[in-house]
Amino acid sequence: MDLRLSEAELAFRDRLRAWLAITLPALPAGPDRDDWPGRRRYDTSWQRRLFDAGYAGVDWPAEHGGLGASLTEQLIFLEETARARAPYVGANFVGLLHAGPTLIVEGTDEQRARHLPGILRGDEVWCQGFSEPDAGSDLASLRTSAVRDGDHYVISGRKVWTSFGQVADYCELLVRTDPEARPHSVSKHGVSKHGVSKHGGISWLILPMDTPGVQVRPLRTAVGSSEFSELILDDVRVPVSARVGAENDGWRVAMVTFSFERGTAFIGDVIESRNIIEQTAAIARSVRLPGGGTLWDDAALRRDLGRLTAEVSGLWSLIRKNVSEASAGMIPVQGASVFKLRFTESRQRIGDLAAHVLGRASLAMSDLPGLPGPGHGRIVEDRVNTLSFTIAAGTSQIQKNILAERALGLPNEPRWTSR
Ligand SMILES: Cc1cc2nc3c(=O)[nH]c(=O)nc-3n(C[C@H](O)[C@H](O)[C@H](O)COP(=O)(O)OP(=O)(O)OC[C@H]3O[C@@H](n4cnc5c(N)ncnc54)[C@H](O)[C@@H]3O)c2cc1C
Repeated sequence: MDLRLSEAELAFRDRLRAWLAITLPALPAGPDRDDWPGRRRYDTSWQRRLFDAGYAGVDWPAEHGGLGASLTEQLIFLEETARARAPYVGANFVGLLHAGPTLIVEGTDEQRARHLPGILRGDEVWCQGFSEPDAGSDLASLRTSAVRDGDHYVISGRKVWTSFGQVADYCELLVRTDPEARPHSVSKHGVSKHGVSKHGGISWLILPMDTPGVQVRPLRTAVGSSEFSELILDDVRVPVSARVGAENDGWRVAMVTFSFERGTAFIGDVIESRNIIEQTAAIARSVRLPGGGTLWDDAALRRDLGRLTAEVSGLWSLIRKNVSEASAGMIPVQGASVFKLRFTESRQRIGDLAAHVLGRASLAMSDLPGLPGPGHGRIVEDRVNTLSFTIAAGTSQIQKNILAERALGLPNEPRWTSR
């Protein structure tokens, strides 16, 4: 493991810092939380700026239009942009971090030529249609069906928790193309009565969201935002040429998609948690107690903040270790699961401590006059939002299963096969 930056990496960092220093002050104000067309416009125009400056697709290979940066340079990019509070990938998340990289590895030349440039320029927004009402952790139980009709598949079913579904142009969609491998015929060992694994019979399709029969119904989250949607698919016709990978081999393609999801996806949030800890400390110093002094005089509070700071710092080192291992050609599965599990739980504890410091102000997700601020409403909203972190991209229980089976060598779960 070598965590030092080379001359070339330092030069990359300095160029990026200089570009961010010029570019960020010129950005327009961000859109309102529920202005979805506005959010799409804001996120895609940021992507266009990155593209024009040569920073689009830092982790994509150069032959597919990306920067072809080393893993350490990717880490520098993520750290510098988060530290400078540059806009996050937002609506471009699925296109840049899942669909694009999956097409690079599994797509046809035609699919790559059709989609990759648009994703990099911010012209194409994607969403992910994997989860279903009865298929989340146990994703292989999915039932949305795609029946072959000549050169088309006819798709019917329902997807849920589709982030950015209401502003997406395309959806990476998992469907069941082989009804013989349907989950109801799966035995407790994950193999059907016909000897077909339930992981077989699934295909990965590119669904244009404006296809007739696609209905997007926004869902409200605990913070009142409608970032998710439900997708109702009713006799939706998609050409067979929109399939990525072979028919019934979509589970393997989905695993390729997930391998991109779990890498460094939470880096921006680690930096954000440092910001929240600093903000919480600043608020504690400013809150006057009736008997004199401030909240900061509370040694227990300072100790808790110190512990969480150390934890975040340890998690940052774990990310660097994962990246260093990946640079050396190893796959950091264990490190990625340990990180996801520990970080998402720490992130919620940081929010709890901030709520304690905010006192009454933690009852509202908006800045209240006369209470510590500005920005305390955002901290409360962030705390509620972090409830989703232990669920998204594989729940904490699923991460524990992964670690139990792959790191500790415990026996596999008999009945479940999770994402
Ligand atoms: C912020 C966010 C964004 C998301 N975005 C998308 C998206 O864009 N597209 C998409 O397709 N999906 C998306 N999802 C859905 C996400 O993938 C699922 O919520 C997740 O996989 C869990 O599935 P579930 O909600 O059906 O819960 P379930 O799988 O029903 O789990 C319920 C509970 O049972 C536990 N459990 C389940 N199986 C096991 C097991 N084998 N062992 C032990 N415990 C178990 C879980 O840990 C959980 O506590 C998103 C979710 C969130 C929170």
